[in-house]
Amino acid sequence: NTNEMEIIFDSHSSNEGFARVSVAAFLTQLNPTVEEVADVKTAISEAVTNAVIHGYENEIHKVSIRCRIEGQQITVEVKDNGVGIEDVEQAMTPLYTSKPELERSGMGFAFMEAFMDSVEVESAPGEGTTVRMKK
Ligand code: ATP
Ligand code: MG
Repeated sequence: NTNEMEIIFDSHSSNEGFARVSVAAFLTQLNPTVEEVADVKTAISEAVTNAVIHGYENEIHKVSIRCRIEGQQITVEVKDNGVGIEDVEQAMTPLYTSKPELERSGMGFAFMEAFMDSVEVESAPGEGTTVRMKK
């Protein structure tokens, strides 16, 4: 009883809303609460924004989102093939940002961790980043 979908889209920041709504639509088959939908949407927004501004530094390349539903659990992977992260632990520390000049607050990963049940990051410099979240 599993169900999967994958979407691939250009890293225009305007596609962030498309990504959020697509995942929310796929999630409806689990009859989620309003709060659960909001949590997943927030986490997707943060991960996609990171792919766009950090992963690709606002160049246009592909972002992919893969969703898998198993029982009552959803797993979402947001992937870019951008610059990657040298120190994942540091990146995930609340308030850490590599772009303070852009007035980022360094709270994206903290929100993902707060709103999802688990967040795992696979990344290497020059090889891009995959953020895997479950709820
Ligand atoms: P905010 O999300 O509050 O606007 P932020 O994006 O800097 O600020 P986080 O989302 O927590 O904060 O990310 C922390 C840091 O991790 C970023 O500043 C960036 O250096 C790095 N990072 C996150 N996602 C990626 C990614 N997809 N590719 C490369 N680096 C990333
Ligand atoms: Mg962020």
